[in-house]
Amino acid sequence: MDFIDLRSDTVTHPTPAMREAMARAEVGDDVLGEDPTVNRLEEMVASMAGKQAGLLMPSGTMSNLAAILTHCGRGDEVILGDKAHTVLFEAGGISALGGIHSRQIPNQADGTMDLADITAAIRSDDIHYPPTRLISIENTHNRCGGVPLSAAYTRSVGDLAQKYNIKLHIDGARLFNAAIAQGVSAADLAAPADSVSICLSKGLCAPVGSVLCGSFDFIQSARRIRKQLGGGMRQAGILAAAGIVALETMVDRLAEDHQRARLLAQGLNSIDGLILNPGTPQTNMIFCRLSDRIPFDAKETAVRLAAKGIKAGVVAERGFRLVLHYWITDADVEKTVRAFGEVLDVP
Ligand SMILES: *Cc1c(COP(=O)(O)O)cnc(C)c1O
Repeated sequence: MDFIDLRSDTVTHPTPAMREAMARAEVGDDVLGEDPTVNRLEEMVASMAGKQAGLLMPSGTMSNLAAILTHCGRGDEVILGDKAHTVLFEAGGISALGGIHSRQIPNQADGTMDLADITAAIRSDDIHYPPTRLISIENTHNRCGGVPLSAAYTRSVGDLAQKYNIKLHIDGARLFNAAIAQGVSAADLAAPADSVSICLSKGLCAPVGSVLCGSFDFIQSARRIRKQLGGGMRQAGILAAAGIVALETMVDRLAEDHQRARLLAQGLNSIDGLILNPGTPQTNMIFCRLSDRIPFDAKETAVRLAAKGIKAGVVAERGFRLVLHYWITDADVEKTVRAFGEVLDVP
């Protein structure tokens, strides 16, 4: 890559091993269930997530959408955090395409929603109310700083859901980051949930794809929804082949991204003019902002960084998100710290 691109882990290119596996992939018509490579990928992810079945989706957005459409009908309600990716960055698909009402309650700084807030948001049976069908949580929580949710917290949400006969979905776009960071298995983190969506195209470096996991029955229904959404792909084994390499070679190494995130945070912390969010980073993301001393905003800072070969994610008028991934080396980290230092070295 020409730039040191820290805007997201979605910018990762497939590795040479992935391209080779894609070229050799055995394929079939996946809409007919006949693509052996897709079937193998789906079984692998389901097994890692501790679920009965998996379903390859073209994106994390469609995966969350299909999951929520499978759990909820028109006029039903889903409880979500107000900083959830599904609320902020999925173009309102659940309401636009599903007629599903979102009940948004505050995300705490640690990515959780208070159990008391969730409980208070669950509707009683009253014709004035949309029925609460689903709670959706996000792990790691992107906008709260790439923070991992614990298995214990997830279990308490699962218990709550069960008590009220509501389903639980996990947007686990970066579930493996959460697992690696906490030294637990993805299956442990997903155990209390009825469904979980995992991205292959973020830190795992695959070019395309997410896998939605759940029970056989749930996945059977989600398969029809995927078809409705136009997400049924034919010789998708070409894509699944890269996903298999991702699962085999990219999961354990996420620890390196977390380590490099800490290294970058350490360097940035020493720069006058930059304030890191408390506790950042917990996985592969750093959130930080410009101090009042800096006479220009984040956008202008990004332009000046780009001139030095660094792409930084602007997330607020004075705020940045920097995401570590496979294509960022220790030398890139050093170069990034130096570039920030130079750009913010103003009187
Ligand atoms: C990236 C992301 C998604 C959506 O994935 P796309 O493949 O970009 O549609 C969903 N949830 C979270 C938390 C994400 O970070």
